[in-house]
Amino acid sequence: MSAWNSDLVNAVYVVAILVFILGLKAMSSPETARRGIVFAGIAMLVAVAVTFFISGLSNFALIALGVIVGGGLGFYWARVVKMTAMPQMVAVFNGMGGGAAGAIAAVELLGSLAGGATTALSLAGAVIGSTSIAGSVIAFLKLQGWMRSKPIVLPARQPINLGVLLVGVGFGVYAVASTTTLFLLPFFLLLLLYGVLLTLPIGGADMPVVISLFNALTGIAVALDGFALVNGPLGDAGYAMVIAGTLVGAAGSLLTILMARAMNRSIANVIFGAFGATEETGTPIAGQLKPIEAEDVAVMMAYANEVIIAPGYGMAVAQAQQRVKELADLLEQKGVTVKFAIHPVAGRMPGHMNVLLAEAGISYDKLFDRDEINDEFANADVVLVIGANDVVNPAARRAGSPLQGMPILDVDKAKNVIVIKRGQGKGFAGIENDLFYKDNTRMLYGDAQQVVGKLVQALKKS
Ligand code: NDP
Repeated sequence: MSAWNSDLVNAVYVVAILVFILGLKAMSSPETARRGIVFAGIAMLVAVAVTFFISGLSNFALIALGVIVGGGLGFYWARVVKMTAMPQMVAVFNGMGGGAAGAIAAVELLGSLAGGATTALSLAGAVIGSTSIAGSVIAFLKLQGWMRSKPIVLPARQPINLGVLLVGVGFGVYAVASTTTLFLLPFFLLLLLYGVLLTLPIGGADMPVVISLFNALTGIAVALDGFALVNGPLGDAGYAMVIAGTLVGAAGSLLTILMARAMNRSIANVIFGAFGATEETGTPIAGQLKPIEAEDVAVMMAYANEVIIAPGYGMAVAQAQQRVKELADLLEQKGVTVKFAIHPVAGRMPGHMNVLLAEAGISYDKLFDRDEINDEFANADVVLVIGANDVVNPAARRAGSPLQGMPILDVDKAKNVIVIKRGQGKGFAGIENDLFYKDNTRMLYGDAQQVVGKLVQALKKS
């Protein structure tokens, strides 16, 4: 490669990486996140484009075809995907990253099994990338509802999983030691199986942690592949992969830690604990469901001093956020203090509620995290739960419950709790909710958008 060409490519990579870091920084606040995404997208586009200028690169037509087909499909899917299906899409994109990292490692290993640091890095990239793509596929199937979201727990799963991992890695090491590429086949197959076995026992409520964990793993796999590539003829591309992979790995790891903290669980416990595998005891919950009409709720809220709104996945499905904004504005005009309680895993992706409410124009100073608002529920006259279920389930405080230990919004401490949902549907974790049967809870049945619309109409008349 000519030195001039290499310097130019590397200089562009440095600029792209800087823009990428600025983009990541901007993503840390909902106000600037949109700009951050655009920055990161442009940086990635520039990095891919300049890679074509690396001398020694061949198969231009094939690479261009891959970029057009992959980029086109990704662009199309991202445009048509519903907000509520975003986690599935993230799971698939993570999986693709892991798969690409695994494929690059496979090409490196098939090219040379000479041993040494490069081969070791490729093997490590292959282990993490293969686990990540297989695990992400299972996460996608669970999130899409094509596989039951409850933990699927096989007997003796820990020793079996460990065995599959060790035998898989053993095949990889033996392939290198004997310089026999044939052994790479069981190596990859067993690692894919490991990714599947690792993810099957992870239950509904833990999916946010798992998605971010695979995100982090994919980044690490890409960085390892980058290290392996640096010594080859396309070394410059390797540097870009090392930096981009490290950024993704670091951001994903931080997100994983934050999500695990939000669930009050260690990452090891998420991966090995089969959270939610405890079956419900079947003991009927004391109390009964008590329906209420929208007009009565409107009166109750109009005379309240403070109303706290706790949104969840159902608000996202119903796309009710605009109506919710109208409702909050009307209440404020009547002198009622309105606050929003945001649980970190409400909805189906980190920050889901913040994004939807921001889209509707609700100002950030009205949104309160779980820690900020939990003590205030006791003072609230009315808590309006809109399509939330798991994140407000007091069963999490009960020993033996499948949700035991999950931090929740303490909405049941309020004087009056109104729950908007369509019927008897369970939450993502698939368990009954004690809240709905409490003395101070009333059920306002219907689609969230329609029901909140009725509340708005009733408030306008009152
Ligand atoms: P849940 O999924 O627990 O419950 C949503 C509720 O909304 C259901 O009980 C459903 O009841 C109701 N609902 C559905 N559609 C409508 C509608 N159109 N109108 C009104 N209500 C509706 O939601 P939560 O937000 O409380 O909890 C999120 C769950 O998802 C947690 O378990 C979390 O761990 C998990 N998760 C979160 C991710 C994240 O990153 N945030 C990612 C992956 C999973 P009904 O059918 O009766 O209407």
